[in-house]
Amino acid sequence: MSALPSALPAFDLVQPRDIAGAIAARGGDGAARFIAGGTDLLPNLRRGVGEPRRLIDLSGIEELGGIVLSPSGARIGAGVTLAALASSREISTRYRALGQAAAAIAAPGHRTNATVGGNLCLDTRCVYYNQSQWWRNANQFCLKHKGEICHVAPQGARCHAAFSGDLAPALIALGAEAEIASAAGRRRIPLAEMYVEDGRAHLALADGDLLVAAHLPPDPPASAYEKVRVRGAIDFPLAGVAVAMRVAKRSVTELRVALTGTNSRPFLLAGADALIGRPLDEAGLNALDKLVQKQVQPMRTTIHSAQYRRLAAAALARRLASAVYAEVAR
Ligand SMILES: Cc1cc2nc3c(=O)[nH]c(=O)nc-3n(C[C@H](O)[C@H](O)[C@H](O)COP(=O)(O)OP(=O)(O)OC[C@H]3O[C@@H](n4cnc5c(N)ncnc54)[C@H](O)[C@@H]3O)c2cc1C
Ligand code: SF4
Repeated sequence: MSALPSALPAFDLVQPRDIAGAIAARGGDGAARFIAGGTDLLPNLRRGVGEPRRLIDLSGIEELGGIVLSPSGARIGAGVTLAALASSREISTRYRALGQAAAAIAAPGHRTNATVGGNLCLDTRCVYYNQSQWWRNANQFCLKHKGEICHVAPQGARCHAAFSGDLAPALIALGAEAEIASAAGRRRIPLAEMYVEDGRAHLALADGDLLVAAHLPPDPPASAYEKVRVRGAIDFPLAGVAVAMRVAKRSVTELRVALTGTNSRPFLLAGADALIGRPLDEAGLNALDKLVQKQVQPMRTTIHSAQYRRLAAAALARRLASAVYAEVAR
């Protein structure tokens, strides 16, 4: 092992032209990986996190492309780039939270290559994991990769690395479904069910499962997305919140709040139904604040304290819900 590995490990590159070819190339083999834009996978491989024998490049598969809006909703292919998503006027108009989330990911250069599928299948992150190999080696690695203990919670047996993708909460708040292809055929599941609260294995996907597209329902509620990050121009969310809301006669009739950056999965806030059937006043915002603080589980996986991320998530939810309400209750 070299002290400062920066070169990629050796691998075969397969470039299938269709989904069946990609799944066949993967063959349920844990040592093969799909690669889309490569903006997350390649830095990780350079840091020695994983040594896949085979990379399956998804960029030549036409079926993974395209944003299609129709009376039955929207289909966003997993291969759509974040730049295309962020610049789609139809998406920003109908599914505003999604456009805002896409525009807030990394920097323009990343968004040109990075894809929706790669963002939704992003690895979880932690200050003890997203480091060079020699740094992690000096720490005897950790439970998520090659090591025996978790440095964040040494007494426990699980990894608390945080899911920090921005698109998932926006899509979850808007009621998206994930279309997944495997050797057994296609299936559609609510996107929230694609994630598990486990920093080591946060995707409920088998080795050969390929994310094909995200589907959004028609007639979406008003929505918005916001995140807090260290560097405003280019950074993962320390906490990110999406709100989707309908209001009739100043009364909230639908409210979905989804979060990222605080747990090992993006998740839909439970209990928001209690705020339905009344105006979103100070008491309602206090109740929302409490729900968020209770359900987020930030750990010491970033340079900021867990308590800061807890309070930031609650403050974001409060601010965003209040702003969307003010807009639609006018
Ligand atoms: C400096 C920097 C800043 C960043 N900031 C942000 C940020 O603010 N917010 C954010 O969310 N991300 C951020 N990222 C991470 C990354 O750029 C984005 O999440 C991007 O969308 C990943 O997409 P990709 O196509 O490049 O994924 P890849 O790197 O190609 O793949 C990522 C993972 O997804 C899997 N995968 C890809 N496509 C599929 C598919 N169709 N089906 C199944 N599995 C698949 C791959 O096997 C891999 O495990 C940042 C990265 C960098 C380097
Ligand atoms: S939470 Fe623990 S096991 Fe997971 S990456 Fe961080 S140190 Fe490693």
